[in-house]
Amino acid sequence: MKILVGGSVAIDNVKTPTAEGKGLLGGSASYASLAAAKLASPVHLVGIIGHDFPAEHLDMLEGEGVQLSGLERSDQPSFTWTGEYHENMNDRTTHNVAINVLEHWQVSVPEEHADAPFIVLANMAPLNQLQMLSQCTAAERFVVADTMDLWITVANEELHEVLRKIDLLVINEGEAREFANTNNLVRCGEILQSKGPRYVVVKLGEFGALLFGPDGSFFRCGAWPLREIADPTGAGDTFLGGLTGFLADRRAVNPDFGQLKEAVVAGSILASFTCEDFSTKSLEKAKKDGFLRRLEDFRTLSSW
Ligand code: AMP
Repeated sequence: MKILVGGSVAIDNVKTPTAEGKGLLGGSASYASLAAAKLASPVHLVGIIGHDFPAEHLDMLEGEGVQLSGLERSDQPSFTWTGEYHENMNDRTTHNVAINVLEHWQVSVPEEHADAPFIVLANMAPLNQLQMLSQCTAAERFVVADTMDLWITVANEELHEVLRKIDLLVINEGEAREFANTNNLVRCGEILQSKGPRYVVVKLGEFGALLFGPDGSFFRCGAWPLREIADPTGAGDTFLGGLTGFLADRRAVNPDFGQLKEAVVAGSILASFTCEDFSTKSLEKAKKDGFLRRLEDFRTLSSW
């Protein structure tokens, strides 16, 4: 079943305490579409790049099954993000965001893909998320969205409108506390659900994720224990795409809580691959059998 993934397609410069990478493939839609394509097809990316975007990144995405007919090419420079991780890899400083092509971007969904039943609104301006969603036509669909602290501050009203139109919000812990205006994570989930989405996932980084469903249903998923983390950039976006890819593979357009639980675990496992190398390098190499093995091992280590 078709998956449509919209978001940023970026050039990233990333520094960690031990290494550095420049001109890397980044962006919420890049990670999310690649992750979705690991588990399902077809996957169509909706985004925009500039004249300076490295062709090798596009070749890789296409080679991995991400279809790029919805990727706009502009004569402006590409969106570029520069960040640095500290000794505690949960702690990151953004040094520079060059918004460039994203500044005046009007999302355009190719007509032939507007009927996708799975829609991923990866991190981008809520206005762009709304533009994308308004062009999607499937009567039965499952809409997943992510956001970030910036949008909670500068586009709060549009973000609330997004929340009224989606089925699942995926948000990280700090942002959930800020958005729900409480430090209690259980209350956070409930407050965010009351703003619209049937399901809410609060991501806890290396500690996994919390899933909130209808009628107080609740699930706590751990994260795959990694001995070394090379670069956690894009782990959240991978989670988002992986979760959706899992549901699409099961043709679960109207998933129940049990299916959502499984999808959250799948997203969490795929995200662990992303952390093992810079950019999308480790995720690119991940194969379905390696993913399934990790999933089975995860079942063993988290049950008693
Ligand atoms: P994550 O590590 O899940 O927060 O995602 C990191 C990715 O988000 C990087 O590859 C960035 O290029 C991208 N990113 C950073 N800031 C923004 C923004 N304002 N809008 C869209 N994407 C962004």
